[in-house]
Amino acid sequence: MTAPNIETIVSLSKRRGFVYPASDIYGGLGSSWDYGPLGVELANNIKNSWWRWVVYERDDIEGLDSAIIQNRLVWKYSGHEDTFSDPLVDCRDCKTRLREDKLDTNDDGKLVCSNCGSTNLTESRPFNLMFRTTVGAASSDDDPSSLAYLRPETAQGIFTNFVNVLNTSRRKLPFGIAQIGKAFRNEVTPGNFIFRTREFEQMEIEYFCRPEDAPAIHQEWLDGFHEWIRSLGISDANIKDYEQTKEELAHYSQRTVDILYRFFPEREDESKQWDELMGIANRTDYDLRVHSKKPEDAEGKRINPDSTEDLSYFDPQTNERFYPYIIEPSTGVNRTLLAVMMDAYEERTNDKGEVRVILKLKPELAPIKAAVLPLAKNKPEIVETARKIKKDLQPAMRAVYDDTGGIGKLYARQDEIGTPFCVTVDHESLVDNAVTVRDRDTWEQERISVDQLKQYLTDRLSR
Ligand code: ATP
Repeated sequence: MTAPNIETIVSLSKRRGFVYPASDIYGGLGSSWDYGPLGVELANNIKNSWWRWVVYERDDIEGLDSAIIQNRLVWKYSGHEDTFSDPLVDCRDCKTRLREDKLDTNDDGKLVCSNCGSTNLTESRPFNLMFRTTVGAASSDDDPSSLAYLRPETAQGIFTNFVNVLNTSRRKLPFGIAQIGKAFRNEVTPGNFIFRTREFEQMEIEYFCRPEDAPAIHQEWLDGFHEWIRSLGISDANIKDYEQTKEELAHYSQRTVDILYRFFPEREDESKQWDELMGIANRTDYDLRVHSKKPEDAEGKRINPDSTEDLSYFDPQTNERFYPYIIEPSTGVNRTLLAVMMDAYEERTNDKGEVRVILKLKPELAPIKAAVLPLAKNKPEIVETARKIKKDLQPAMRAVYDDTGGIGKLYARQDEIGTPFCVTVDHESLVDNAVTVRDRDTWEQERISVDQLKQYLTDRLSR
């Protein structure tokens, strides 16, 4: 089973400390969220899984961490200043501001307001999604020379560093650059919890290759990401591909496939249950050309008179110089976290007839790997032993000590936050130097010697 809807995850998140509404004590700020003690661990574990899979387990990817605020010219030549906008319409009746491309039509083919159902909408106009800011102490708000943007994607920092990474890492095609970082978009209609927010985090790869190799490499990344998503514990039944049509493709893209997750299982219309988890685009040689000083338009004018670098690639074997094609797999951290939580969610009835929530997270992703629980907190020897066991485990895995309730309540809490193992110290432990290890998924218990505990848990966690 998976979560019946996003709302279930919203309340679990707030109740247990995964995600809270941001600036809540001041009434919040529409669609801003803070990651709590468990949320930050889960997000870090997802990012680490991606980084390990992409950067460490392959031989053809380098990492990068570029600045959020770049020279404005980056966004001029990337095309974002002119075209990174959503079509905005206003409903004249209920005054809601809407994204035209997300609206349904009625039987007459007219767009319908998703808030009140009216068709009395304004003409659409482009709304640029980049957040503006000013740079420098002396700048005034309307000084164009100090205008800057918060990056709306991490990708551009990779393109502008293509030659730096190429030269310093002595790479040859094909190779890629990976980056994880925050991105900002002034979304017209954010919402659905952390699915669409104005501040979010991306994990992006820009993979540089010869033009003729791009279609096959695109397909390899698509297949590869299905594997990675599976490795996070997300079921294939909740994942599907969407091939963008010619009309939907960005002008520079030769092919884009979105991987969708079933974020809205409660919707009756099956086709509306799905939305984008990540996208994989073949961006052609567009990006490296537009940031290069050499390319010219049909009239022989440089398309980029401001760039000081030529981002082309020289192949010593063929003596050719060309602009590499780029395959871009782009994944949202927050959407991945939401999908992981929804897919791991399970409800089970115990033998007392009570419904328990279990978050069946893969051990690799679980915020806490083991919780050490004393059966009696008024017995100093038991408490001391439990604390010592926690301390011994901690260098090897994230472990916690908890004595804030009866054992049933403590188990229930750990199940709900996805802790794979609970280690219980009881009276007997003081005699036999052994503890009870309880498995989150089966609720089965096993007696393990304290001396073997760390090894036992390490083995089980890596399965
Ligand atoms: P959408 O169509 O949902 O607006 P997009 O196609 O504009 O998304 P991309 O530009 O391809 O998104 O961004 C790559 C990934 O970044 C997305 O697949 C998604 O996981 C994530 N992402 C994009 N916008 C947001 C957002 N506003 N909030 C959270 N994650 C986002």
